[in-house]
Amino acid sequence: CVLDGDTVARIGGDEFVVMLPGLHDIDHAAVVADKIIAAIAAPCHIEGAELHVTSSIGIAIFPDDGAEPDTLLRNADIAMYHAKQDGGGRFSFFAPAMQEAASRRLAMGAAIQRAIAGQEFVQYYQPKVSATDGTICGFEALIRWPQADGSYISPSIFIPIAEETGRIEPISAWALQQTATELQRWQHEGVPSVPIAVNLSALQFRRASIAGDLDAAVKRAGIEPGLLEVELTETGLMSNPGLAVEILHHIHELGMSIAIDDFGTGYSSLAYLKRLPIDKLKIDASFVRDITTDASDAAIVLAIITLAHILNMRVIAEGVETGEQVAFLVKNGCDEMQGNYFSKAVTNDEAIGLLRRGPFDLA
Ligand code: C2E
Ligand code: MG
Ligand code: MG
Repeated sequence: CVLDGDTVARIGGDEFVVMLPGLHDIDHAAVVADKIIAAIAAPCHIEGAELHVTSSIGIAIFPDDGAEPDTLLRNADIAMYHAKQDGGGRFSFFAPAMQEAASRRLAMGAAIQRAIAGQEFVQYYQPKVSATDGTICGFEALIRWPQADGSYISPSIFIPIAEETGRIEPISAWALQQTATELQRWQHEGVPSVPIAVNLSALQFRRASIAGDLDAAVKRAGIEPGLLEVELTETGLMSNPGLAVEILHHIHELGMSIAIDDFGTGYSSLAYLKRLPIDKLKIDASFVRDITTDASDAAIVLAIITLAHILNMRVIAEGVETGEQVAFLVKNGCDEMQGNYFSKAVTNDEAIGLLRRGPFDLA
């Protein structure tokens, strides 16, 4: 893809640098980037398997984007990160605004570190409601990061940054500990015990020790492992299916149940779905939102319900907000529902209040 006089170097792991010193027209950098992406995307046949590799390229131009080698490389790296965030398989030119975004991420990473040390995080609980009788059949633990002004930073913003900046471990350990303590408290206070689900990030799932961590938390609190559920996204599952098979079987043998989160938004290998010890599919809120107005969303939800039942799994709809959605889901055999229609995520004391109050009205 390159010419005589250009340089191609591997600078570590899966990172490569291409230097084009003779570039007269900036647009040519895009042409070369396209060629490289296409060449890498061509399938490779290795030991009978067809492998598809995607790449992301960041482009920084000398001297506009950096007069020093370090600056130029760093800015190319920032641009590459953007290309990757946009879904990969593409290139991106460096722009100064990206620099600001990168500094913001770094600053938030440092703030997360302080929040961990200062125990600033709070755990909330959102009920899951049985579509058969309206009883609460579980809760999902959702982390909250309260700010001085009374607002919250959403976990969908800070969890990915915690992952990128290597700070997800302590947050997850804390969330797991909170959940186990809460289950223990319910047991002591004689509250009707239902399972609590914790969210596991894709990164945690690349570590084989996760099952051991879950086991230790349950044992320390002296609770039934069946009261702990784990939620894992499709992307987390499929990012390393080989390892996931092993870990999921281990978790399942410990007696915990496993749900696939945001189902339908990533892509699952149906072959793996069949082989894995998955107990539940969570239909992503984006499909639930328009089930009563959009025929294709309704069809997707029906298909997921059918798929789950054929594979002997339970199925839960996320982000349920209206009575019409509830009616649709109940009528079509969805097992459980979760969403603001019933209750948003609440504090642990409010969760106990909900458990004591009895079933929700489904009609
Ligand atoms: P998720 O696991 O898919 O959680 C569902 C999200 O939908 C939650 O957002 C919840 O508050 C929101 N939600 C629930 N009902 C409704 C509704 O009726 N309408 C709408 N519009 N939204 C609803 P939240 O709490 O902001 O969490 C976002 C994501 O952050 C979660 O998505 C989960 O992936 C992640 N997350 C939360 N807590 C943790 C944690 O402790 N560890 C990890 N690794 N991830 C977490
Ligand atoms: Mg979840
Ligand atoms: Mg979800």
